[in-house]
Amino acid sequence: MTTTATASSTRVFNFSAGPAVLPEPVLRQAQGDLWDIADSGIGIMEHSHRGPVFDAVINETVATCRELAGISDDYDILFLQGGASSQFFMVPMNFLTPEATGDYLNTGSWSKKAIKEAKLFGNVHVAGSSDEGNFNYIPTGEQISWSANPRYVHMTSNNTIAGTQYASEPVVPSGVPLINDASSDIFSRPVDVSKYGMIYCGAQKNLGPSGVTLVIIRKDLVASGAEGLPTMLQYRTHASKDSMFNTPPAFGIYTMGLVLKWIRDFGGLSAMAEYNEAKAAIIYDFLDESEFFYGTAETNSRSLMNITFRGKTEELEKQFIAEAGARGLRTLKGHRSVGGMRASIYNAFPEAGCGALVEFMNEFQWAHG
Ligand SMILES: *Cc1c(COP(=O)(O)O)cnc(C)c1O
Repeated sequence: MTTTATASSTRVFNFSAGPAVLPEPVLRQAQGDLWDIADSGIGIMEHSHRGPVFDAVINETVATCRELAGISDDYDILFLQGGASSQFFMVPMNFLTPEATGDYLNTGSWSKKAIKEAKLFGNVHVAGSSDEGNFNYIPTGEQISWSANPRYVHMTSNNTIAGTQYASEPVVPSGVPLINDASSDIFSRPVDVSKYGMIYCGAQKNLGPSGVTLVIIRKDLVASGAEGLPTMLQYRTHASKDSMFNTPPAFGIYTMGLVLKWIRDFGGLSAMAEYNEAKAAIIYDFLDESEFFYGTAETNSRSLMNITFRGKTEELEKQFIAEAGARGLRTLKGHRSVGGMRASIYNAFPEAGCGALVEFMNEFQWAHG
């Protein structure tokens, strides 16, 4: 580990679920490059995407991504627009037909949205669901049953709203591509990309600003996609032009490149995972001891990225969120669909912020317990 994430004195602890905190060295670098990148006399947002400066930027972003996660040449790395939400329809539009079935693991609000879109293009088999448990756990083992011949399996590795996360990949039927919406835990821990047909994410939680969607997709899957779709909605269009069929989300790709280098310089995905585990443990250990606050996710399904918890009463939760905000512990309010509190502690969130949160929780529970 060569870098430590720190909070400067002028910035608050930002627990936002997304867009979310970015590494400080990345923001500092971007400040300079907005004015003039690589001594070109032109800022990053003002460069043609067909010129040598941006060429270097996108090539480095792809190379760093491959290096970080050990992604082989069997996969394309694409930068698309429309958010992770557009992948909810683009996946079934490319890979489902009215005769085919996509198997979906339903682990929260985002999975549900993906399922809704898939039904527009083909059959959906919900192979496992924690809907009846308020999505507070990840279905495993006998809680999962695949359809006879799924075209693909779709999962959501980290459930941003419910605060749950897969401990490891589900074992899917042999030969069936596993497609993962990793929007809120991409590159937060080591990943064996070869287990997946496709991984996608909106960048704004762990990788950069909103407006760019990273898609890591196996080349044979790209080639197998439906033809006759609008050009922009086929993966092959973007794969064959290295994401430059049209103007790509240039600033997002640039920033993602910086974030990926920051993770690499941090020590890579294993070091990142160790750091994320340590941060989450600070808060979970406290929750496990507390008689005032409690975590809402089942212990073995807990997310290391989004920690969801409740207090004694809704009244006190409101007061807690307000007082925390006044102390520079910001955006702790839980998603409106679940209530309570949520501490989002993505890669770039500093460990000191977890300590500060626990310190305040302790104070608050003594005052109101
Ligand atoms: C935030 C989020 C999305 C939505 O991403 P957009 O880029 O806003 O479309 C989808 N899936 C998960 C798991 C998310 O956390």
